[in-house]
Amino acid sequence: MTTVYLKPHKEESLKRFHPWVFSGAIARVVLDATHKAAAPEEGELVCVRSAADEVLGVGHWQIGSIAVRILAFGVETLPADYWLQRIRAAYKVRETLGLVQPDNNTFRLIHGEGDFVPGLIVDIYADTAVVQAHSIGIHMSRNEIADAIIAEVPQVQNVYYKSDDTLPFKAPVEGNRVGWLTETTGVESQDFWSKENGLSFRIDWLRGQKTGFFIDQRENRALVERYAADKDVLNMFCYTGGFSLYALRGGARSVDSVDVSQKAIDLVNINVAKNFPKATNHTAVTADAFEYLASQKAQNRTYDLIILDPPAFAKHRDAVKNALRGYQRINAKAIEMIRPGGILFTFSCSQAVDKEAFRLAVFSATAQVGRKVRILHQLHQPQDHPINIYHPEGEYLKGLVLYIE
Ligand code: SAH
Repeated sequence: MTTVYLKPHKEESLKRFHPWVFSGAIARVVLDATHKAAAPEEGELVCVRSAADEVLGVGHWQIGSIAVRILAFGVETLPADYWLQRIRAAYKVRETLGLVQPDNNTFRLIHGEGDFVPGLIVDIYADTAVVQAHSIGIHMSRNEIADAIIAEVPQVQNVYYKSDDTLPFKAPVEGNRVGWLTETTGVESQDFWSKENGLSFRIDWLRGQKTGFFIDQRENRALVERYAADKDVLNMFCYTGGFSLYALRGGARSVDSVDVSQKAIDLVNINVAKNFPKATNHTAVTADAFEYLASQKAQNRTYDLIILDPPAFAKHRDAVKNALRGYQRINAKAIEMIRPGGILFTFSCSQAVDKEAFRLAVFSATAQVGRKVRILHQLHQPQDHPINIYHPEGEYLKGLVLYIE
């Protein structure tokens, strides 16, 4: 196996279980005898050692500023049953969290670094797992990962691979970036249902965003249900209607679901019809958020409860300033439309915007509108999206629930 030697003192963060080796920390690379090229291959397993020749761990080599992502600390090679061990451990945690229930078969099984497997996401929808690789090393292990999921997760029979948007764009990739990893026939995501807290959702992983659903809002959706009774609710950036279904079950007087994507709105309507076939108090609108809020304001429309769950406004550090302005603007527009005694659920899923910066943007919005506002809840990503304490970069979802006088 190829060995990566670090510069003196660069082993400190690895000894504290941070899973990344930056290229600047590397002193030299000693290739194993099989190599023809002058450098390790992207996705190759390498052993990382300190300047004093201490074994630090094994990981995937990657071209870029993060050169190695560690899969196992303190060992020279991966154990033969590595994937079985990791999947088994992750599933056990989800069982402990109470997420594996007859009325809930939707959960995240592997959350990258948060489950000690950098570069891998696995979401479970009923009998199907959707696997997403963020590195070539994970891509090369995709079949072993699928076998381990089938072996360890009793509810799963089919494994779909969806890495067209997540693998490094230019990397040469052997095999398909999308498709079934199991010999699966007859599974049509067209009419596929998964359950979250007793509500049924059509999951379309083929055409949908991410792996098909935003599992990370499960707990926050349940909180909306608690506040929804007799309220006029606006679910802005609704995607397939997650928050809307919980609001309807919570007894909302009316729910308006808005998203710019027609495909998303079609799914909202399908989901509402499945769970609440008799509902007459739900309206789904295909519209841009800013245009919708402006047009409703022009008609003096107001709401008791608004949910704002926009896509990541900042995908990179250099976009943070503009993102904060965007958060301030959209929050100010929403707060203006909330009736006295109403509630705002507002979120940011931009990893690059930390919770203090987000809170400051929302503060600026409330000050701009001049309403008296209190924070009722500070929300975050749920337990099946764990944050490795040694890898705080894994924290991304944050939200505030505001009471607006
Ligand atoms: N709250 C959702 C997830 C939201 S994801 C849930 O619980 O499942 C963000 C959504 O914002 C996507 O569906 C995307 O189509 C939508 N979106 C992106 N830009 C938008 C815009 N300018 N106006 C309205 N919706 C937008």
